[in-house]
Amino acid sequence: MAIINRDHAKLICDIGELSAIITDASDLGAMLQKIVDTVAGHMQADVCSVYLFDDAGQELVLRATHGLLPSSVGYVRLRPGEGLTGLAFSERRPVREADAPAHPNYRYFPGIGVEGYRSFLALPILRGRRPVGAMTLQSKQPDHFSAEDVQVFRAITMQLATTIEMARLLLTLERKPATATQTSALPEPRLVRGQIGAEGYAVGEAVLIRQPSLAEIRALLGSAPLDLPDFRRAVRATEKQIENLEKLAGERLSDVTAVIFSAQLLMLRDQSWLGAMEEQIAAGTAPAEAAYRVILNYVELFDRMDNAYMREKRYDVLDVGRRLLANLTGHRDVDSRREGRIAIAAELLPSDVLKLGLEKAGGIVLLSGGVTSHVAVLARSLDLPLLFVDEPHLLQIPEGTRLVLDAHQGNLVVAPSEDVERRYREQDEARRSAPHLAERMRESTHTADGTRVHLLANINLLADVEVARSYKAEGIGLYRTEFPFMIRNDLPSEEEQLRIYRRLVEGMPGREITFRTLDAGGDKVLSYFDYGTEANPFLGLRSIRFALRHRDIFLQQVRAILRAAHDTQVRIMFPMISSPDELASAANAVAECRADLRHEGLLACEHVQLGMMLEVPSVLETMDELAERAEFFSIGTNDFVQYMLAVDRTNVHVADLYIPQHPAVLRGLRRAVTAALRHGRDVSVCGDMAHDPRFVRFLLGIGVRKFSMSARYLPRVQEAIFATHLDEARHFAQRLLAESTVSGATEVLDEG
Ligand code: PEP
Ligand code: MG
Repeated sequence: MAIINRDHAKLICDIGELSAIITDASDLGAMLQKIVDTVAGHMQADVCSVYLFDDAGQELVLRATHGLLPSSVGYVRLRPGEGLTGLAFSERRPVREADAPAHPNYRYFPGIGVEGYRSFLALPILRGRRPVGAMTLQSKQPDHFSAEDVQVFRAITMQLATTIEMARLLLTLERKPATATQTSALPEPRLVRGQIGAEGYAVGEAVLIRQPSLAEIRALLGSAPLDLPDFRRAVRATEKQIENLEKLAGERLSDVTAVIFSAQLLMLRDQSWLGAMEEQIAAGTAPAEAAYRVILNYVELFDRMDNAYMREKRYDVLDVGRRLLANLTGHRDVDSRREGRIAIAAELLPSDVLKLGLEKAGGIVLLSGGVTSHVAVLARSLDLPLLFVDEPHLLQIPEGTRLVLDAHQGNLVVAPSEDVERRYREQDEARRSAPHLAERMRESTHTADGTRVHLLANINLLADVEVARSYKAEGIGLYRTEFPFMIRNDLPSEEEQLRIYRRLVEGMPGREITFRTLDAGGDKVLSYFDYGTEANPFLGLRSIRFALRHRDIFLQQVRAILRAAHDTQVRIMFPMISSPDELASAANAVAECRADLRHEGLLACEHVQLGMMLEVPSVLETMDELAERAEFFSIGTNDFVQYMLAVDRTNVHVADLYIPQHPAVLRGLRRAVTAALRHGRDVSVCGDMAHDPRFVRFLLGIGVRKFSMSARYLPRVQEAIFATHLDEARHFAQRLLAESTVSGATEVLDEG
């Protein structure tokens, strides 16, 4: 600890003087600046900053700083609990760190000059029990602030609380209320925090994604004199564009081969639609007007349909209609609107994400959904950076606003200054030039004391197989077979599935492959399937329940898997099993398929292992019975946490309650693993907890020796395992399991 003789008494006195000048301070910024300059000087700190809580935005805003870049004032914003400053604020306690960047809660904001600071001290500014802001000190020296400094700093913040609260209120009054006209003005630079759905980085202009409206279509009509040949040329151009998209999808994603575009092509070529337009043109209507009227007609037609799936078709009509009119009237190419841009949307379907990927969007900002939602899972497969942000007003920003999407750190910078943009770019370049992570992977994984651990990959699309191989995955621990089902307009036939599955089997020769049967429902809706209205889809006709209710679909899939693996071994597992009866029904379906295939003389897999996912808490009570039938278990922690805690994994409003380290979750996991091992059953973890190094130690400690995750996480998990002694992991697990509160478990987890 550095021993520094600071004249604390003088400082407290000076601050008292500062408080007194509030009354005649004409400029609040200048007053706050004087406060931070004075405190930094007295505390011999390199940085002193003051953050005030903004009630409207529910965030801490940096209002003055000595030491950080002046441009970061008003720009750095933190939610309560976020970063070390947010922690001091929300927990109303001092946070003192000898080496802050090493702390898991530490938030790094590039471009504001925080680099190089080690010691950190934050204190909440309290009005009574209510926190109204926070003050921080930073120093380049490690371990610079003493316990005595904390006391002095506390005295300072107490003295300043009234002054600061006044400043805070005045600043709030200064804020101009948002009005409709403001939306077209240039947005203020700001930093928005989000949850990372798919890691990556993008910088570009904002493009707002909504389904096109009729009004937008109308706006494309134009007034140029056009004739029938112009119209036909536009139809051909439209056809070509859609075919190109289809081809692109086919090249990149053979398992979902572009079927989403085939419906649009069918519609475009349909004579009743084209014919109706041509008829009107022949009768003297301007081509654009004729096209618009027919589009309108079709939209109304689909709107009147009873079937929800058919009603959805209105969007295809609008999409094709918009494209056709844009080609007819010479508007810029509709696809180029998204290339390199960052899409902002209230919600997206998986097929929308696929389209954005094909249109080469730079990244996505989504205002709904959670990091374990399947839109996120798909974005990872498509290498599209995705951030979930709970800020509806982002939909109001003008199109074309510059954005920096840093989905490595979880930051979205709206209207960044050139300097900030440059710093983010530099940081990204540094990241890219780091040696490729996959090259660091070793063929097999051991703990520091030599216990063998198996690392496998989760895949969603065939494109992921190549990635899994390049990261030296030992096999596929989870193939989410529903993805090819989700990104289509119709059910894939048994033969189509066979082709896809065969390519997977051939792509991973001699390695363990676990097919999970169709896990549709919840947020993985099949758009062509009418589920009716479900108030609680995650508690509804989801997953194995859907499969058993629609047995024909289920049998077709199992047949395709068995046929694809006719010359090898395969593992089939059933998702969301909640009772031994359900497991028995699913296993019977496999037996039936094998018997049928034999009867039909078709080659089928002789060596199938049947297992189940452990996702629903009810199975904890029946593990012994389940282990009699299931040859292996795989724990889907994404759903296990969701169901254990009754927190919708896709709902941003309860994202803070989705707590994997909840004692009930940890104890449940331990119970499940212990029971599986007692019966000699293989048990793996394939949910997101498997790729969080902090939980990897815990899971090793309770006996897990097999982990499956998105391949990109494998290197860091392997590194964590190599660094872990089993004894230490067991001890860590014991400490975590001994905690009975969320806060206690969080503390142990954070301490590491
Ligand atoms: C899980 O629930 O943890 C899991 C791996 O399955 P999914 O995320 O596909 O629901
Ligand atoms: Mg699941």
